[in-house]
Amino acid sequence: MIVVMRRGASQENVQAVVERVKELGFRPHLSVGEERTIIGVIGDERTLNENVFRLMEGVEKVVRILKPYKLASRDFHPHDTIVPINDISIGDKRVVIIAGPCAVESREQILETAQAVKEAGAHILRAGAFKPRTSPYSFQGLGQKGLELLAEAKAKTGLAVVTEVMAPELVPVVAACADILQVGTRNMQNFSLLHAVGESGKPVLLKRGMMSTMEELLMSAEYILSHNNNQVILCERGIRTFETYTRNTLDISAVPVLKQLTHLPVLVDPSHATGNWEWVTPLSLAAIAAGADGLLIEVHPHPDKALSDGDQSLRPERFAELVNKARAVALAVGREL
Ligand code: PEP
Ligand code: MN
Repeated sequence: MIVVMRRGASQENVQAVVERVKELGFRPHLSVGEERTIIGVIGDERTLNENVFRLMEGVEKVVRILKPYKLASRDFHPHDTIVPINDISIGDKRVVIIAGPCAVESREQILETAQAVKEAGAHILRAGAFKPRTSPYSFQGLGQKGLELLAEAKAKTGLAVVTEVMAPELVPVVAACADILQVGTRNMQNFSLLHAVGESGKPVLLKRGMMSTMEELLMSAEYILSHNNNQVILCERGIRTFETYTRNTLDISAVPVLKQLTHLPVLVDPSHATGNWEWVTPLSLAAIAAGADGLLIEVHPHPDKALSDGDQSLRPERFAELVNKARAVALAVGREL
């Protein structure tokens, strides 16, 4: 952290800042220029609130040097983190495809979809049992019954399962069935949930808040990592902008930026980003070209009958086409699928 003094700040002002730096357990480094003095604050500044200096007499501004997150940062951990899920490695050379319906709706629906996505080349099955819905009158998911059906789909297909957990007290219940716990966009800053999934020791798929910056996403990842759980997978799923043709705006730039800032794997969910199945394939290809480690795709055998997100769900045969196209792009950018 650097404290920049105002032009004409007195010796006493400078000395007071130097003393405060020492009091707080940091080392001051004074640099007296022709026009103004700057004071370097040496030590791990992440625990330091810049207001302790900003509000002092004679201080013009305080500049942070370190990123506010540490465990999630590539500076701290230069090599890519690879999250192993059975025989799948998320964050490795192979682009990982996670697919399935928005929600578990019935035994037939989840078993049929699981089999279809597996045949089309998906590596992991997704489906919500506990659904975060905007309206309390909308289908809320099958809850515990949904988890049981997911467990059956997992046993029948051998696919690992990712499903959302919405509350800290549900973590043990969901963790008993899921291979990966999903924290949805609406809960990205539910800090008690982040602590709970961190403590569970399970892999966590953390979706970017629809109104959150990349830095906020990384700070949320930091909560999970701070429990010594390094199995965190990030997911860009679209953010809110002024554009209304799409449900959200897929922030494709998040892929290379996050890959640079963090060692954690980065997935893209073009289904919730666009809200329309017709744009899911082109954005999937763009995501892989941009360096995404995998995709999260909603697939439903009968989108017209889906209880949630039918508009954005691909029919299995269209999903199979997507996988073939994605494979070609993956190979073109030095990945595998
Ligand atoms: C989901 O993936 O099921 C979901 C609800 O997505 P999001 O949290 O990104 O809206
Ligand atoms: Mn959905």
